[in-house]
Amino acid sequence: MQISEKKLFLFDIDGTLALGDTMFPGSRELLDAIRAKGGVSVFLTNNSTRSREDYVRRFAEVFGLETRPEQFITSGTVTTAFLTEHFLGKWIYCLATASYVAELRAKGLQVTEEICPDADCILVAYDSEITYEKLCRASEMLQTCDAPYYATNPDLRCPAPFGFIPDCGSICEMLQVTTGRTPIYLGKPAPEMVFCAQRTFGFSSEETIVVGDRLYTDIACGINAGVDTALLLCGEAARADLETTQYRPTRVLADPAALYAELLTEKMV
Ligand SMILES: [Mg+2]
Repeated sequence: MQISEKKLFLFDIDGTLALGDTMFPGSRELLDAIRAKGGVSVFLTNNSTRSREDYVRRFAEVFGLETRPEQFITSGTVTTAFLTEHFLGKWIYCLATASYVAELRAKGLQVTEEICPDADCILVAYDSEITYEKLCRASEMLQTCDAPYYATNPDLRCPAPFGFIPDCGSICEMLQVTTGRTPIYLGKPAPEMVFCAQRTFGFSSEETIVVGDRLYTDIACGINAGVDTALLLCGEAARADLETTQYRPTRVLADPAALYAELLTEKMV
């Protein structure tokens, strides 16, 4: 696999291009080089608490990078796209924040937060406004309605200043031990984000590469979508993990600077 033949670069953000508010050396040069050769960089994140517009602002303010909303695919946006494709005109029962419910309705989807035995699908999203009453309603829906059950992302926890707070995966685990039902997750490692980016920008699987620092989410996502992958060793995964993982990346590189160097070297061959 020649990295220079790739056109659609799907990047994880944290641990891959940056750590918190600090970009890794080489990230900026890499993104510039991709654009200069007519490629597109897209950023995939399982964090559904920020909108695409929030990310555009954050990239400008924190990293000084100019981006467009379509360059960001969150587990929220990929779920909206999936529901629009498969459940338009049908009833969707939803456990989510008021703003996410409003976003789904703005796309023309029929969403209810009330008990609805005839619902065509059940969706659980990250919900920072969750209440016991909402959990009881979701439990009743999962036991009285056998419609397909989806959730935005499998992450169990998200970082907080003092450590971690529960993420969507933890809410789903609580519902799983209560009702016995497990959702189909639409965020990484499901392939939907890759398909969504390919549809938006019109590139083939051969032209697409997923770049990330986690084997069981980023690299698994690329493998599930049938595209090449590059693992960067500047985040979670270490070289030793490659010996035991079932998710084998196509390429392994130290960091964004190494990927950038690879792009330049290949061009001269
Ligand atoms: Mg990461």
